[in-house]
Amino acid sequence: MTDQLSDQTRCLYYFPSGRRCRQAVSSEHPNFCATHARKTSAPDSPPDAPLDEALSAEIAQLAGDFSSPAQVNLVMGKIFDGLLHGRISAKEAGVLCYIAQTILNSQRTVGYLQRSSAQAAAAKPKRIVYINDLPQPLRD
Ligand SMILES: [Zn+2]
Repeated sequence: MTDQLSDQTRCLYYFPSGRRCRQAVSSEHPNFCATHARKTSAPDSPPDAPLDEALSAEIAQLAGDFSSPAQVNLVMGKIFDGLLHGRISAKEAGVLCYIAQTILNSQRTVGYLQRSSAQAAAAKPKRIVYINDLPQPLRD
């Protein structure tokens, strides 16, 4: 497209990079192009909508103290279930699963450090005790 749209006829959507959309305003929406009019009016993905409170309570209960991979696995299963039933958006599920993966990686690192410190403690040389005054065997 070689024609430059005027500011009044251009979509008012701004990308996260700060760049403004170059499409023409749609006839269906006063400010946005057809693509961004659909995105801004989608009922299931309002920006920064709080997570379903019941779902977040279930996730928090399953998570416990995040001390074992099994707890994180249960949380990811609940997130998957919430996504399938439309209780959570794909974006929220992606963010939560990324956090869960980060927790799993940190658990692995903590486990590795604990094992290596236990091995270092086991590999320390044993203390050798010399006894100089043992009774001698009786010899004729
Ligand atoms: Zn647009």
